[in-house]
Amino acid sequence: MFLVTVLISTLFSCKQTVNSTNTNGLDSSALSAITIETYKNYVTQLSSDEFMGRMPFTKGDTLTVEYIKKQFEDLKLTPGNQDSYFQEVPMVETTSTPTNKKLTFKGKSGEVTINHLDDYVIGSRKLKEKINVDNSELVFVGFGIVAPEFNWNDYEGIDVKGKTVVAMVNDPGMYNKNLFKADTMTYYGRWTYKYEEAARQGAAGVLLIHDTKAASYGWNVVRSGWTGPQLNLVNDDLLTEIEGWITTETANKIFSLAGISSDIQETAKKTGFKAIPLDIKVSTELNNDYRTSQSNNVIAKLEGTSRPDEVIIYTAHWDHLGIGEAVNGDSIYNGAIDNAAGVAALFEIAKAFQAADKKPERTIVFLAVTAEEQGLLGSAYYAENPIFPLNKTVANINMDAFNAIGATRDVSVVGIGQTEIEDYVEKSAAKFDRVMKGESNPSSGGFYRSDHFNFVKVGIPGLFMGSGSDYIEKGSEALEQRKKAMAGRYHAPSDQVDENWDFTGIIEDIKLFFDIGHTLSLEKTFPNFKEKSEFRELGNKRLSQ
Ligand SMILES: [Zn+2]
Repeated sequence: MFLVTVLISTLFSCKQTVNSTNTNGLDSSALSAITIETYKNYVTQLSSDEFMGRMPFTKGDTLTVEYIKKQFEDLKLTPGNQDSYFQEVPMVETTSTPTNKKLTFKGKSGEVTINHLDDYVIGSRKLKEKINVDNSELVFVGFGIVAPEFNWNDYEGIDVKGKTVVAMVNDPGMYNKNLFKADTMTYYGRWTYKYEEAARQGAAGVLLIHDTKAASYGWNVVRSGWTGPQLNLVNDDLLTEIEGWITTETANKIFSLAGISSDIQETAKKTGFKAIPLDIKVSTELNNDYRTSQSNNVIAKLEGTSRPDEVIIYTAHWDHLGIGEAVNGDSIYNGAIDNAAGVAALFEIAKAFQAADKKPERTIVFLAVTAEEQGLLGSAYYAENPIFPLNKTVANINMDAFNAIGATRDVSVVGIGQTEIEDYVEKSAAKFDRVMKGESNPSSGGFYRSDHFNFVKVGIPGLFMGSGSDYIEKGSEALEQRKKAMAGRYHAPSDQVDENWDFTGIIEDIKLFFDIGHTLSLEKTFPNFKEKSEFRELGNKRLSQ
């Protein structure tokens, strides 16, 4: 252990010397405050068994937020919420149970009955003990998208009030590269969007048709994700009575009951599709157990020297999955990479700003958010209840998971083409002899799947970036072994600090994250969304306020 650490830190300090001798605008005092020893220590502590997998509402929650507060104090950051380091996030935990574990669809020509979990999942986020949907008419709405900028409206000319809509996942661009943003998924492709839109249309329920390729995950993920209690924000009012998923097989049975070909899904992928009432009725009853409680976002700031009212917000979610099903005798989901690594990066970046020769002119905010794993809830709450005015918030820089395999030449921006922060990423990367690339699988909609997205939804450009895949160390056995050692740890109890992990790449990524924010803190302009982004209009609106 000791030997390895010494070796890594030697390598690390060699690199450091190279950086500080070049004159490309890097703040070497700031960068040398970011150290592998302290970083590793933060990660190790936060992901130790003592924190019990950092699940909101548990003892692990209290321990974690107190630990983060203590670090913020030790780093001489001031409280971010008036005189407090906390922002209380009221949440509700709901467990929905269908009273009859079957769902029956009644058509003119007969009935189709399907089984809970095998064929469908269902729930309700309404704060009601009993949910009753009685003889609700089914309407097939294709993708269930209303997107004026892409000339698309699946709800045109149809009233779905009180009805249950059946919708496909993803967006038309996945099937026709002339539509939407080709194979880069837009927010309209996310299942969360489909639920929101159906609620806006006044629907009583939504059933999404699962498709492994279009969803980018199998039915098992839907099934396990919809088993057990779900967390939600208390004040969420954009909700239908019931939300659920059905398998492709079930959808085909429903179409056949309606007397239409399952080719209808092909038609719905093309321009000009019109929603179709299926002349089928569905009823269901759910028992909803819910309890309200609160967790906390932890927030601190470092005041800007000349424009303190303008803020740059670094985020990292502190929560993970808690204690769950044991794998190889281990039931604690430590979440070292996901996301003790991100929270620890907040501390290192704070140190760098404190040590910088050129102090930030804008205020730097450090925000560790709760309940990301439960649906990006802590950041959603912040975006809806912002402590700093949205039109003075320059950018969000989000850190969620790092790569402990090794340093890479490239960095990968998730949702490339969305925001002008990318221009800063590109320039900063070049200072470190690195290059910016897009993500490897844009059709999975990664841009909509971490906390920066809640900032995006209120018009603030957010950056979500990870290390790339072009390892500087080429083809060595050690590298291959580290790659193997990392595999299969995502959301598993084995996401815990391993002595074979290589933190050098993480440190390089953190320096880059620092430099992007540091550069932005010295600017006078506000980055916006790019011309082609579906959030450009929202961005314009925010900037004109
Ligand atoms: Zn995460």
